[in-house]
Amino acid sequence: MLKMYIGGRWVSAVSGRTRSITNPATGEQIDVAAEGGAEDARLAIAAARKAFDESDWPHTSARHRARLLFRLADLIERHAGEQARMETENNGKPLADAEDDVLTAANVFRYYAGLIGKPSGQVSDLPGSYVGRVVREPIGVCGLIVPWNFPLMMASWKLAPCLAAGNTCVFKPAELTPVTAVRLFELMEEAGFPPGVANLLLGEGRTAGAELAAHEQVDKIAFTGGTETGRGVMRAAAGNIKKLSLELGGKSANIVFADADLDIAADYAVSGIFLNAGQVCSAGSRLLVEESVYDRFVDMVVERARKIRVGNGLHPGVEMGPLISEAHMNKVLGYIKAGIEEGAVLLTGGKRITEGELARGFFVEPTVFGDVHSGMRIFREEIFGPVLSVTKFRDEEDAVRLANDSIYGLAGAVFTSDAGKAERVARRVRVGVFWINVYHPAMVEMPWGGYKQSGLGRELGTFGLDAFTEVKQIVHNLHPGPLGYYHWNRS
Ligand code: NDP
Repeated sequence: MLKMYIGGRWVSAVSGRTRSITNPATGEQIDVAAEGGAEDARLAIAAARKAFDESDWPHTSARHRARLLFRLADLIERHAGEQARMETENNGKPLADAEDDVLTAANVFRYYAGLIGKPSGQVSDLPGSYVGRVVREPIGVCGLIVPWNFPLMMASWKLAPCLAAGNTCVFKPAELTPVTAVRLFELMEEAGFPPGVANLLLGEGRTAGAELAAHEQVDKIAFTGGTETGRGVMRAAAGNIKKLSLELGGKSANIVFADADLDIAADYAVSGIFLNAGQVCSAGSRLLVEESVYDRFVDMVVERARKIRVGNGLHPGVEMGPLISEAHMNKVLGYIKAGIEEGAVLLTGGKRITEGELARGFFVEPTVFGDVHSGMRIFREEIFGPVLSVTKFRDEEDAVRLANDSIYGLAGAVFTSDAGKAERVARRVRVGVFWINVYHPAMVEMPWGGYKQSGLGRELGTFGLDAFTEVKQIVHNLHPGPLGYYHWNRS
């Protein structure tokens, strides 16, 4: 059974409740997990609070914390094959993608292990005899809440900078995908993280997660998930003015101009949406194509979409796995129905796959809609599935206008051979992540996060570490003398 890790001990839920964990490719149970609730969350928060307030963890040297993070990265790499397999069994993604995720996670721990020892802060030569210093300190107890689409990778994005900075934390994976999180915490224990510094809470968002978001002993919430859930987390966090990082939804535009290398652009357009079966916050779910090449380019995309090998991620050669759950699959199928009803042209896909062994899992065909207009729900709402909406544009101005016609602002891309046009578009599209002639690279060195309703703050890079620190100014008077303010100073 998958247990929680609280205060350095592996424990079941106080209620004794458990949850069946399934493989979305087969519908079969792969494990059983402790189902924590609000009471378990309070125990985990108390353990993290104690470790922050009473142990020397926040005051350990950066070098010491870096050593633990480096050790953890090595352990992740040593057990990479096993963790990738676990991720595929629990999340459904192709094994090669899961292997990439595991190595990325190791790399993220290494990056922050390296960064924490680098110079930071500022010194100011102030007027008079004052010297000012700006230092960064840990925030305190952090609640880290992640979704099911990149379980281990999202864990690393949050845990690495959080712990590097000297915080303590309660980490909650999605209720559907706890498997690699449990393994990660076993490795953290082996690496030597002290009890209470990092706690693992399993269970539902609306009970365990909500308690984390609201609890007054939690100083910061770092959340990745849907925008509606994020809005609720923000409200709950207002009680004690928690620091917040939110990485939310997206409806990213991938803009293809007629002068692009269309073969290359078509490959990226396809991976932009169908990677991880479209369950990616930065998915290029709106493909905007210049009208002079629209028909030709759409044909190229459709031809590729039809050739994608869909199946159980554990099977060699599979390029797209299932959706995470039956409920999520039904939500995605609902959007496909809405697209048809609203008059978009279904060019390929559109159905659940019900042949052979795939009938047991939650597979949806790679789906492409053409002639999508900006008023349609499939243009406006995050589907989070393998559904691409294609829209025609007239010129650069029109492309930028369509790209910005969204409540979201996470990512976007442009494909063109005109460098000037690429730069102009890059600057005018209101998103936090923008790619030119490429789609989807997420680099630990570069900040990740969204404009508008795609979130708050940035993860990764130096920004990701800053988000787990408080900034303190310290002013030192080098020549203390009489204050000279009160009458007794003047007589
Ligand atoms: P959620 O946003 O609800 O889940 C993300 C995480 O938040 C999970 O760990 C979840 O817990 C937790 N959570 C849920 N409710 C609360 C709460 N009230 N307080 C604190 N934490 C909470 O994602 P869903 O799985 O419900 O997906 C809904 C939609 O959100 C998707 O269809 C997609 O559009 C979008 N989404 C976007 C993601 C992104 O990366 N931008 C990732 C995932 C979803 P648990 O799952 O355990 O209940």
